[in-house]
Formats: sequence, C-alpha cells, structure tokens
Amino acid sequence: MAEVDKIGMGRRNIALRHLALRAAQVGVSLSLVGFIVGSILRRDHPGQIPLLDLWAFNGVFALGAAVCFLRPSVGRPDRGAWWSLGVGLAIQTVGNVYYTVVLVHLATPPEPSLSAICSILWYPASYAGVVFLIRARSKRFLPSLWLDGLVAGLGVAAALVGTVVVARTKATGPMSASTVNLALPFADISLVVLIVAGVTLLGARLDRVLLLATAGLALGALSDLAWLVQNDDSTYVEGGLPDVILLVAVSLAILAASLPDSVRTTPRRGGNPQKARVEWGVLWLPGVAIVGSVLLLGLADSGAMPLSARLLAMACILAGVARVALTFHEVRDLADVHQQARTDDLTSLPNRRAFYERCDTLLASASGEASSALLLMDLDRFKEINDTLGHAAGDDLLVQVGRRVRLALRSGDTLARLGGDEFAVLLPLTTEATAVQLAHSVLATLTGGFDLGTVRVHIDASIGVSTVSPERHSRTELLRCADIAMYEAKAHHAGVMAYSSVDTTLSVDRLSTIEDLRRALRGDVEGAGRLLVHLQPQTSLIGGAFMGVEALVRWQHPTRGLLAPDTFLPAAETANLMGELTEVVLGVSLTACATWWARGHYVPVSVNVSAANVHDLTLPHKIAAALVAYGLPPQALVIELTENTLMADSVRARTVLDEIRAIGVGVSIDDYGTGYSSLSYLHSLSVDELKIDRAFTSNLGNDPVATSIVRHTIELAHALGLRLVAEGIEDQAALEILAALGCDIAQGFHIARPMPAADIVDWMDRQAAAVAQPSDAALTTDPASIQA
Ligand code: C2E
Ligand code: CA
Ligand code: CA
Repeated sequence: MAEVDKIGMGRRNIALRHLALRAAQVGVSLSLVGFIVGSILRRDHPGQIPLLDLWAFNGVFALGAAVCFLRPSVGRPDRGAWWSLGVGLAIQTVGNVYYTVVLVHLATPPEPSLSAICSILWYPASYAGVVFLIRARSKRFLPSLWLDGLVAGLGVAAALVGTVVVARTKATGPMSASTVNLALPFADISLVVLIVAGVTLLGARLDRVLLLATAGLALGALSDLAWLVQNDDSTYVEGGLPDVILLVAVSLAILAASLPDSVRTTPRRGGNPQKARVEWGVLWLPGVAIVGSVLLLGLADSGAMPLSARLLAMACILAGVARVALTFHEVRDLADVHQQARTDDLTSLPNRRAFYERCDTLLASASGEASSALLLMDLDRFKEINDTLGHAAGDDLLVQVGRRVRLALRSGDTLARLGGDEFAVLLPLTTEATAVQLAHSVLATLTGGFDLGTVRVHIDASIGVSTVSPERHSRTELLRCADIAMYEAKAHHAGVMAYSSVDTTLSVDRLSTIEDLRRALRGDVEGAGRLLVHLQPQTSLIGGAFMGVEALVRWQHPTRGLLAPDTFLPAAETANLMGELTEVVLGVSLTACATWWARGHYVPVSVNVSAANVHDLTLPHKIAAALVAYGLPPQALVIELTENTLMADSVRARTVLDEIRAIGVGVSIDDYGTGYSSLSYLHSLSVDELKIDRAFTSNLGNDPVATSIVRHTIELAHALGLRLVAEGIEDQAALEILAALGCDIAQGFHIARPMPAADIVDWMDRQAAAVAQPSDAALTTDPASIQA
C-alpha cells in the first residue's frame, strides 16, 4: 500500500515539476518579448519603468534560473552545467533587482556595490557551466585537441585583449586601475576564450544544445565587453540596446536548457575521431590563429598594442607551431599504422584486409569485358608440419612459400596471405586459362622441398581458381567460388581446379558439410545421418585365406545418400574433427570385428588414422580402452597411417606409435611408395606392415619399372621383417604376378569390393569354405615365369 502511495506521489511530483517548467519557459518568452517591445516604444523617453526594468528584465533572469533548475536532470550527463547556470542567473537577478530598487536611488553608492559583486560572481558560475557542458561531451581528449583548444584560446585572448585595451584607451583615456574596471573586461574575455577553446576542443562532438548555450554566453560576454570598453557606469541607460542584447543572449542559454538532450560523446561525421584529428585539413585553425597573431604583432600600432596582447599573440604562435609539428607526427604515425594494418607480420605480404581492399578496387573499376581472376591456395598437410616440427618451422615455411610463389607471378598481381596457410592471388585482366596456367607455375615453385633448419620437407598445395563473370562480380562471391574450387582440388588431389570445371551438383557446400558432420559425430542420426564403415577383405597370396579386413568410412547422409570419404574427410581435417571421427570409426569397426571373432574368424580389422590422430598423445589410451570395451585382444586391430603422416621425424608421433605397438596392436604404412620416406627410415619406426600403393600394382606386368620397384620393395621389406600388402588388385593377372613376386597379402576389387558390415561374416564363411577346397590360381603360379 505504502509503495503504491509513494509511486503515486512520485508521479504527481513529476507532473507538477513539468507544469512549473512549462510556466517558467512561457514566462521567460513573455518577459523577453515584453522588454524588447517596451524598449522600442520608450526609445526617446529615458527613465526607469518598473514594469520593464524591474519585472520584465528580471523576469528573464529569475524564470531562466527556474528553467535551469526544473529541467529534468536524472541521467543527463550535463546537469552540472544547468545547475551552475541557474545559480549564476539567480545571482544576477539579485544584483539587478538591488540595482534597480536600491542603488540608483542612493546619493553615494557603496564601493563595491552588491550589484557589482553579483556581476563578478556571475563569471565563476558561467565558467563552471561551460566546463560542465564540455566535460559531459568528452572525458578524454587527444594531445592535438588540447593544442587546438590552446591555440584558439590564445588567439582569441590576444585579439580581445588588444582590441579592448586599444578601444578603451581611445574612448575614455588610459584604463583606470579600479578593480571592477579591470576585472570585468578580463572576466568577459576569459569567458569568451574558455568557450572558443572548449568548442574547438570538442571539434566533431558539437551539438545544438552546447552551441546554443555557449553562443548565448559568448554573445552576453562580448556585448558586455563592448559596452564596458565604450562607456563607464555613469553613462548607463536602462532599456538601451546593450540590455536588449544581454537579454537575448541570456535567453539563448535558457533556450538551450529547454531543449531535449543532444549530448553526443562520439563524433558526428561517423568517422573515427582519432583519424578526423589526424589529417592535414585540421591545420586551418592553427593557420588562422598564427596568421592573425602575426598580423596583430606586426600591423597593429606597436605602441598602442599592450604587452599582454603581444605576449598572448606570441604564445598563440608557439602553440600553433607545436600543433603543426604534432600534425606532421600524427600523419606519419597514421601512415605507419595504415601500412601495418595492411601487412602480414610474418611474410610481409599484404594481409586479408589489404587483399579485400584491392579486390574491391579492382572490381569497382572493372569494365564489362575485361575479366580478372582470383587464386586461392592452401598448403596440403601444413598442420602436420606445424605439429611435428613446431611453429617456428611452420612460420619459416610460410615465409619461404610466400617468397617462391611471388616469383611465379607478374608484377601487377597481388599475392596476399589471408591467414594460416592460406594464400590468395589477385590477377587483374586475366582469363581463366591464363589464371590456371599461372596457378600451375605457382605449384611448380613449391616442388623441390624446403629447408627448415636441419630438415627438408616437401609440400604440396591445392589452388582454386575463380574468374569475374556476370554471376561472380562481388568479392565475396569470387572468394566463395575459389574456395569451393580449392577444396575440390584438395579432395581430388588435382593441384589446380577452376570453379567453372567444378561439378557444382556434386560439390557440396563445405561449411554445411562440416556442420552436418559435427552433428553426425555427436549422434544426431535424424538430422545428419550416421557414420558407417564398409569392410574390404584382405587375402593371403599363398593359400587365399582371408587375413584381415580394412574398415573404410562412409557417411550415410539423410539427404545426400551414402558419401565416400573423399567428399568429407578434407573438411573434417580442416575443422579439426579427425579425432572424433577416428573414435567413431574405431567403435564401429571393433563392433563389426567382434561379430566375426564371435564366429571364430580370428582376423584383425585395419582402421585408417590421420596425421592429427598420430600426434594425439591420448590415442594409445583410447585404443586400449576401446579394445577392452569390445572384449577384443590387441591382435584384433591394425592401425593404418600413410607415410606422409610421418614425413617429418616427430618425437611425438614416434611415442604414439611405440605405445600402440606396445599394447600389441599392429601398425601398417599405407600408400607406400607415394611419399618420400626410405624403407630403412620406416624400419626405425615401429611398424609391422607395408601397403604398396595402388599406383604400383595397377600396372603390374605392363610396366617393367613398376614391377621392378614392387619386386625390390618386397625383398627389402622382407629383409626388414615387414609384412607386405598389395592394394588395388583389380584383376587375376596382378594377383598372380604379386604372388610370384612373394607379396604376402592382397586387397582389391578383384577379391572383393568394400561391403557393408552386415555382409562381411557371410563372405568370411563362404571364403573359409572355398579355401577348404583349394582351386586358387594364385597358388599355382610359378614365380620364375614373371618378367621384371
Ligand atoms: P585407402 O586407405 O588407400 O583405402 C583404399 C581405397 O581404395 C578405398 O577407397 C577403397 O575403396 C579403394 N579400393 C580398394 N580396392 C580397390 C581397387 O581394386 N581398385 C580401386 N581403384 N580402388 C580400390 P575409399 O573407401 O574411397 O577410401 C579412400 C581413402 O579415404 C582411403 O584410402 C583412406 O585414405 C581414407 N579413409 C577411408 N576411411 C578412413 C577412415 O576411417 N579414417 C581415415 N583417416 N581415412 C579414411
Ligand atoms: Ca588404408
Ligand atoms: Ca591405401
């Protein structure tokens, strides 16, 4: 109940206050208009008229003070200003009333009089008001702004002091030393100087409330000054022009108090205040001040010009010169910052921001028929290098790549590093054919390897090419198409791919792929489908018995159907999802494996892992835990990794491999022959098996070089105690040749295509039955009949 009362009272108070404010505002307007009209009418009739000189004149001051006090102040940053002005106006009212009612009737007025004291007290109040107005609009000013304020203030001070002293001397003889005589002009000058300096300081943050209030105060001070200079107190005429100007000036300030808030703490022109202050254009102010001060010093009659004005003028020149020097400094710094913000720290190439700017400029100026092209390049396996050799080596590689790529480009082309291992090239006036050609030359510069300290690494890259066309004329669109082309190039190990040759019906948006894959890995089967494995048997070349099964991941996508690994593994690598993916594949593979072990087929399942997995120190533990969870011995699992994964000698990968083998799980090197590692190096690692890449087995028999390589590999591997698997066996001939060469195990479409897990046990049962009654040609092939 009490709460409700309080709220009700609060509302009533607000309403009353609002009403009072409106009344005061109307009162000010009526008083002002009344006084002006009255002053015009009584022009030729000197003498006091109480209705005008007491009521109308003081009405503006007293009601103006009320407006200042009643103005809503809660939450308004400049409320201190209006309180100060209100106090100042109230003091002025007291002084004016005392003057009109008492002072003019006294034969010997006291020195100083109450009205003189009140006039003096007005100044501290108005200074405080100006300072509050400015502080509310900015808490912090740049050094250059302080200097601007100082220059403007000193310049105005020099001009006013000079003018006042000269004019006063002409009008009434040398200035008397009376306190009020000296103090009032000085106080007026200081107020104007403060306003000019403050307004300059705020620069772009000016708003109409501040402008109106300070214009009113400055007008009042200047008219006061003009009057003080021309006359002394004895010539004061009530209701004269000076009074009218004073009232108009005061009313401007009161009008400012009546306006809604317009405090802006950010500059108006939308720009950056720092930048707005750091341009040559801001030099007009010190320029004008300096020229003015020089004129004042040189042209003005030097005898009449007081020392104070000359000193102020000199100080203004000094401050102006300092401002110019500071501007030089700031413009240079800004240029540096501008440059830095557009350069890649590591490679000193233009960065993403600079690249975007150049793209936009080029596209904006591009004429209809002239096409331009964009290359997007991503290094393959860069993350591995970073992981295995460390970031310093990775950085070194990026710098070297940047330098080499530059060599393949023309002078007008822009090479930029967009971040990570991603580079982009802008090719103005370039057709797609030329762009593709240039992309190939870029790739060519990368062959031959890079020296990173003591290690030499080989690195490939994938480049996507997109060209400006009616459908692709925006930077975003160009980059998006180049990105799609680049991922397509990566997925197909194509090196270079132009967007126009990407089959967009097949190419799926990589980002949505990543999102879907992430959801699938987290178990959102309905929304994103599930990951499965297809299993491909491996059989012995001596006897034909099945020796193992390779698990190959598939993604059963709800809308896109069954997806092959090539369509999503590159995306998974970039999105750092390989850890999760391998865990899921391991689980699915071991589940399947448990079904054939339960049927008495004691052969292992081979699971592929990527570089990210091999550098994960927790992998051995995860493998051991998975085996326990599915109740399988370590012999039920083989881990396959490509030799490129181990390209650089990595302590971490070694540790991981050693631990995997220590558990008893087999390790196999996949795609052997495509990388750069030597057999003896592989032997120094803990591995059990080599899988000769399809590239060598597909041409066996026709290609004597391939045959010879395979033969020697088999001999060496056997000498090192490694088992050999030949993959990609597509026909009986290859099978026979491999058997003759002494290869141990074969895998390929000729034996069986990868099949769903549900089919594998049946296949094994059938195969076991077939092997029980041998008829396999591979067994009877005579090794001596093979040509090599
Ligand atoms: P990979 O490890 O070399 O796997 C063998 C690939 O060759 C499989 O392709 C398989 O279907 C195919 N293949 C098997 N026999 C023949 C044949 O006789 N002729 C031909 N032309 N191809 C044959 P798939 O399943 O598309 O896998 C492609 C690659 O994706 C794999 O190459 C492997 O590097 C990667 N991959 C597959 N599953 C996984 C996985 O679970 N984890 C990781 N990290 N990578 C995987
Ligand atoms: Ca494999
Ligand atoms: Ca392989």
